[in-house]
Amino acid sequence: MSEAGVDQGRDGAAGPLIELRGVTRAFQVAGERVMAVRGVDLRVGHGEALAIVGPSGSGKSTMMNLIGLLDTPSTGHYRLAGVDTRALSPQDKARLRNQDIGFVFQQCHLLASLTAQQNAQLPLLYRGLSQRASLEAARAALAAVGLEHRMAHRPSELSGGEKQRVAIARAVAGEPRVLLADEPTGALDSATGARVLDLLREVTSATGAALLMITHDMGIARQLPRQIEMRDGVIQGDAAGGGRHA
Ligand code: ADP
Ligand code: MG
Repeated sequence: MSEAGVDQGRDGAAGPLIELRGVTRAFQVAGERVMAVRGVDLRVGHGEALAIVGPSGSGKSTMMNLIGLLDTPSTGHYRLAGVDTRALSPQDKARLRNQDIGFVFQQCHLLASLTAQQNAQLPLLYRGLSQRASLEAARAALAAVGLEHRMAHRPSELSGGEKQRVAIARAVAGEPRVLLADEPTGALDSATGARVLDLLREVTSATGAALLMITHDMGIARQLPRQIEMRDGVIQGDAAGGGRHA
């Protein structure tokens, strides 16, 4: 960890936010074993922002799904905010995912029948927040992404960039410790994509959340303070400040 304070969580917890040690993930496909992730060591501090780059099929999404507790390593260790995730029951994992992790994908996965505000509110209702508290948090998150005037719109009534902003609002409304974004600008034109990147950085730095973003776009990756390069299921490069290898 390079910067003072990076190892200190919002609740004062010492140590990195994310720590992977020797993590692998193998899939069995038609009798063949595919090693999507083949031994990753990674530490990410509280509030850190980084890009994950690498060719298609290099294991970026698999690694992100592991970090997001959507999937479980075949071997190795994953600690999230000091918690050894191997020991967790499926229910504990789901609760941790709901509280600590926000997701933004290339396709925004909004529910078509719900308004922007209801979409952003939903994970908070799952968490057990009251109708009123969850509506209020959803409104604040939508305001933070500049969509105050679109609260009552359904996804079909929003542009691609607006939909992605609703997805960002939904992901951060519950103030997660980490925001995971898998090609969030992949379906957007470059100006809209740049705006989405700015918003991701704004909303995470406002809450002290870490940001891990997968992108194909080196121009976008270089705007983040750290770049991780994956190749064939391993981290091949880990650089700070746009291209200098650490
Ligand atoms: P990336 O996001 O870098 O494009 P992925 O993590 O999606 O790469 O995939 C890495 C490798 O793992 C690929 O060979 C892919 O086909 C394989 N893979 C990913 N998910 C699965 C799965 N659910 N079942 C089988 N193979 C998978
Ligand atoms: Mg992918």
